[in-house]
Amino acid sequence: MNYHYDPENIFAKILRGEITCTKVYESTHTLAFSDIAPKAPHHVLVIPKGAYVCYDHFARAASDVEIVDYTRAIGTICEQLGIAPGDGGAGYRMISNAGADGVQEVPHLHVHILAGRNIGPMVMMRP
Ligand code: AMP
Repeated sequence: MNYHYDPENIFAKILRGEITCTKVYESTHTLAFSDIAPKAPHHVLVIPKGAYVCYDHFARAASDVEIVDYTRAIGTICEQLGIAPGDGGAGYRMISNAGADGVQEVPHLHVHILAGRNIGPMVMMRP
């Protein structure tokens, strides 16, 4: 595993407070905020505070405490947004892009939570 984390990526700047965000949730190891270009009525980005490039990097390198905090944060956010099917919510889609083929734009792990409308087909293929 050989990941280089760029500390100048935009989410690192948000974590350092150099750029503002619309905060949705924060815990010891996790921050969630609204996407600046929302693709659905709810479009939340959930990021770990640690320097991880993408999901497999986090899953392989983060501590158990960070992983539990991040995973529980996603559960809490879904509950807070009222989108969890188990609570009578209408559901959501969770996406995490990684690398070139995943078309990841920001090289700091983030999960997109999209909800508030039918999100449509799982993947829209480009011609
Ligand atoms: P990805 O293609 O998975 O890397 O997605 C990056 C996401 O970050 C896009 O949905 C952008 O709209 C979003 N984004 C970029 N800059 C900001 C920002 N300053 N605040 C909130 N969201 C942002």
